[in-house]
Amino acid sequence: MKKLPIYETFYTWQGEGCHMGKPAFFIRLFGCPVHCPWCDSAGTWHPDFVPDSIDKRSIDSLVEQAKFHNPELVVITGGEPCIHDLTGLTNALHEAGFPIHLETAGCFEIRGSFDWITVSPKVWKKPIHSCLVLANEFKVIVDTPDAVSDWEQELGTYFSGKPIWLHPEWSRREDGQTLEMINQAVKNRKFAYRAGYQLHKLYGVDEAATAKERQVGIKKRFGSKLPSYS
Ligand code: SF4
Repeated sequence: MKKLPIYETFYTWQGEGCHMGKPAFFIRLFGCPVHCPWCDSAGTWHPDFVPDSIDKRSIDSLVEQAKFHNPELVVITGGEPCIHDLTGLTNALHEAGFPIHLETAGCFEIRGSFDWITVSPKVWKKPIHSCLVLANEFKVIVDTPDAVSDWEQELGTYFSGKPIWLHPEWSRREDGQTLEMINQAVKNRKFAYRAGYQLHKLYGVDEAATAKERQVGIKKRFGSKLPSYS
């Protein structure tokens, strides 16, 4: 059975986009060749994407873990998850009854079957047509004063009719100019812009969830009761 290089898994809730607030099991894969300077998942990078030294997880064990948590949906993210063939994983998760969401920069072919696709384009490796047409929503990181207009010019034909979340790049989350630019874009209604935010960071839920997941992993491995998380 095929195995995948998994950076981390955790049960939390979706903090971004149209499915914000829904309980979700996250599977974060190793590897990303895009290398955004402000990446908040840079621990997933590796020059070879999938070094031999990284432990790989079986698809069965990932599905079992998802079942254990019983989330409303499963989110596959990275790194850039689409450098991997996700067909086996998505087939198995669908067989187990989970809706599957994908978060991608859109610069590699999507291999796998998804119920919701979020494309977050990056200037360092441009998204490709076959991904852009599959996007259910876009997430634009507003990291420069021209970010919105630049992406409008480049992807305007793909933006039509789809929600486009504008997120202040995290270090600019309190920058008045950046927030005002997002305010104006939403109100001008040129496209279906939505004011976005990484709500999970405000709540600190992902950090808490990964710590809890480690506890769950240890307890499961040793067969004792679940921790109380107190
Ligand atoms: Fe990080 Fe995503 Fe950029 Fe890759 S595409 S470097 S994971 S922010």
